[in-house]
Amino acid sequence: LEKKIAILEGRMPQKYPDVKFLGYKERKRILVTGGAGFVGSHLVDVLMMQGHEVIVVDNFFTGRKRNVEHWFGHRNFEMIHHDIVNPLYVEADEIYHLASPASPPHYMQNPVKTIKTNTLGTINMLGLARRVGARILIASTSEVYGDPMVHPQPESYWGHVNPIGPRACYDEGKRVAETLAYSYAKQEKVDVRVARIFNTYGPRMHVSDGRVVSNFIMQALQNLTITVYGNGKQTRSFCYVSDLVDGLLTLMASSYTLPVNLGNPVEHTIEEFAMIIKNLVPGCRSTVSTGAAVEDDPQRRRPDIAVAEANLHWKPKISLQVGLQRTIDYFREELSRTTFLNNQ
Ligand code: NAD
Ligand code: UDP
Ligand code: UDP
Repeated sequence: LEKKIAILEGRMPQKYPDVKFLGYKERKRILVTGGAGFVGSHLVDVLMMQGHEVIVVDNFFTGRKRNVEHWFGHRNFEMIHHDIVNPLYVEADEIYHLASPASPPHYMQNPVKTIKTNTLGTINMLGLARRVGARILIASTSEVYGDPMVHPQPESYWGHVNPIGPRACYDEGKRVAETLAYSYAKQEKVDVRVARIFNTYGPRMHVSDGRVVSNFIMQALQNLTITVYGNGKQTRSFCYVSDLVDGLLTLMASSYTLPVNLGNPVEHTIEEFAMIIKNLVPGCRSTVSTGAAVEDDPQRRRPDIAVAEANLHWKPKISLQVGLQRTIDYFREELSRTTFLNNQ
């Protein structure tokens, strides 16, 4: 089995040198909703490498079979094509509930579906957790803070969200998901964990998902204009995907039950970020343009990670330079793959 894992590992863009193969008694059956997506598929890799049984549930709205296909045929792996808005009856010891579009153009494309996924879908997963007695981790977001009036954002901040704006389907959907989690915890004694995830990037992001990292890198690799929305003075703080996965695993294993920010506190303006990416792509001739601002775009975002540091002993390890370089390498490969396929 270890030999097989080593072979599979070789095919994956991400390496996890710290992952330990667990003993038989420590292995669990783990359900990952949204496991064919960007973050979910990296989490699945680590769980599989640890030796767990993993069930991925995904409707492929924004995810891809390709992200997990290296596990197809493995006896510990199961893939269920299912929309979690509908009930699901499986058995599990733990549930990572990640199913939801995450990129603004994706979630705005079908706002009603985004709300249904985060409300009805979350009720179904909490119902499942209740029935089988599983611990469930809900993937929430920094968007619960909206366009924040407090900076950086601690978990104690209640947020500043426009309930009827274009981002509301996602922001309010996730806020309800958190409320549902704590209602099930209080009333039904469901064992919940809530991760407030800040902007995350890395290999397996969709080339056309419209998020800033994928847009800027794809533009820089093709010498196209780098499109800054608004004046570029808005800020974000970017976390590399392996750091986030590490945080999710640590939170799931911990006894801390309140929401926890998971993100990298290194903050940049979007204008700076455009230049950082341009400079990391050798020979890039892109120019940077500014354009119309996006409605309700949060102006500042940086996680206060004191809670995670104190309670999980977690903080990000991968620098922006290293993470971006790996991500640029991935996008370069994606670009040559699509160019090759288009020429066939
Ligand atoms: P992603 O779009 O790559 O993955 C989401 C996955 O969920 C996809 O595979 C998609 O097909 C699946 N999905 C969506 N609706 C579904 C449904 N109704 N039933 C079954 N599957 C469904 O996004 P991601 O970046 O991997 O995000 C994963 C989770 O983390 C999401 O819940 C997102 O809100 C949260 N999050 C991500 C970020 C980030 O920067 N990536 C930031 C904050 C929060
Ligand atoms: N549910 C599910 N899988 C399960 C158990 C429940 O999808 O294994 C769904 C079920 O359809 C219900 C929801 O989760 O609509 C909430 O479950 P809960 O037990 O809270 O509610 P009830 O069944 O009492 O309506
Ligand atoms: N953005 C940009 N150009 C792009 C895509 C995004 O300037 O091509 C900006 C966007 O307006 C926001 C920031 O980059 O201020 C992050 O956007 P993203 O969609 O990645 O995530 P968000 O944090 O807004 O959910």
